Amino acid sequence: MRDVAIIGAGVTGSFIAKELSKFKLSVAVFERKLAPGLEQTKACSGIIHPFQLPFKLLRSRLCLQGNKMMDAEAEELGFEFKRVGLITVATNPLTFLAIPFIVLYLRLHGVKAEALSKKKLLEMEPNINDKVYGGVLIPSAGVVNPVEMTAKACMFAEANGVEFFYGCEVVGIERKEDRFLIKTKKGDFEAKLVINCAGLYADEIARMVGYDMKIVPGKGSHIVFAEKGFTSHLVVAIPLKPNKRTKGGGALIGFDGKPIWGPNLIDVESKEDTSVKREEIEGIIAKFSPLFKKTPEEIIAVYAGLRSIAGQDFVINEPVKGFINVAGIQSPGLTAAPAIARMVLEMVSKHLELKKKDEIVRPEFKISKSEACRSLEDDEIVCLCNMVTKNQVLRVAEQFKCFDAVKQITWAGMDCEKCKAEIMKLIGERILKDSEGGEIAWS
Ligand SMILES: Cc1cc2nc3c(=O)[nH]c(=O)nc-3n(C[C@H](O)[C@H](O)[C@H](O)COP(=O)(O)OP(=O)(O)OC[C@H]3O[C@@H](n4cnc5c(N)ncnc54)[C@H](O)[C@@H]3O)c2cc1C
Repeated sequence: MRDVAIIGAGVTGSFIAKELSKFKLSVAVFERKLAPGLEQTKACSGIIHPFQLPFKLLRSRLCLQGNKMMDAEAEELGFEFKRVGLITVATNPLTFLAIPFIVLYLRLHGVKAEALSKKKLLEMEPNINDKVYGGVLIPSAGVVNPVEMTAKACMFAEANGVEFFYGCEVVGIERKEDRFLIKTKKGDFEAKLVINCAGLYADEIARMVGYDMKIVPGKGSHIVFAEKGFTSHLVVAIPLKPNKRTKGGGALIGFDGKPIWGPNLIDVESKEDTSVKREEIEGIIAKFSPLFKKTPEEIIAVYAGLRSIAGQDFVINEPVKGFINVAGIQSPGLTAAPAIARMVLEMVSKHLELKKKDEIVRPEFKISKSEACRSLEDDEIVCLCNMVTKNQVLRVAEQFKCFDAVKQITWAGMDCEKCKAEIMKLIGERILKDSEGGEIAWS
């Protein structure tokens, strides 16, 4: 029997696994996909948000904490994290007048903020429309590759003894006297504690132990443009009235510097609906174009993700003794993940004695983009668009045995069909379709 079973290896489950791996506990993670972070996490915007309104919410508190923890997490796990900063722009006289109050309000809540004159703003971001009035710089905003961040938390946890069962869907849970019986498609397991991090499906997992909750999917679409360096900060407009359900998206940038515009928020019925409609693309372009002198021209990708929404806040509770729910982790869950993990550790400590391990292993696994570029001399580039090397692709494929993981972690074959074909050829001899035919897995 394991001490702890974690259901789901998105960013939340992976960071909890990473924290638990530092203690003398037996921990298992059950993930129905073939690699970590391939559901909500992979389809997010990759922003480490500086704050979340209103400040009274749990997700707001965890966002602030998570943002502050991110440099140390990136250092500990070795993922790329850049504090690029956010500029929020006044596009009319009313929002311009609000700037001193916004700066004061953010500072009162511990968020660094600085008023920018129009001149300073245009010096910092020359592509911004010169009809703007001024803005606010919030330097703590950052960018990551969400799947790299998640995968590295899993690799750390695995190196420190956590067992990962991929391709292993949980289909039932039975409460026994002092334990849970977890039924999966790969057999039954027992654990003293269960931590539900199943994202969009966390309501189905909660219902397995008799707790009724509902996760509603909220679709968010993005556009990725080719013009690297179009802005060097994340850019949003100061809203006249904040929307309670969404931060409203922005003219963002990815960890590789390409512009990413979005996301919007569309209520959808299905937890599988990641379609991106033409009118959504037009809506996003119409919303953010007025912020700039010109619009980036070359769209190289569009993608959508589904937020798992259970009301206005995260649902982190223990509805049944020993069953910890980490549900409704909508935005800013990526930012909050390290802080969520600390909170859950506290909840676990009410049941199990947490004894620190004498030694913590720091895995040396070089899979990110800059790590690969550093070793170009003795390697061969297989994706010219994103400068990804052969060894890097093979290393990730060996670790996660899944083409989607290779693509999401290394960015190889992400932006063009020609590179994608090269990558498929490279790992093709050792791949096959999985049983559901959806993903491509290493044999
Ligand atoms: C459009 C969009 C943009 C966003 N942008 C940002 C952002 O910029 N910054 C930010 O901080 N946050 C952002 N978020 C929020 C962030 O992506 C989520 O909060 C975070 O990814 C949630 O992680 P998770 O681990 O809880 O869920 P998930 O990533 O969905 O992980 C849940 C895992 O559980 C697995 N699973 C489900 N059911 C089962 C089962 N029965 N058995 C086994 N495994 C199961 C799934 O396969 C999945 O891997 C955004 C979200 C969306 C949708």
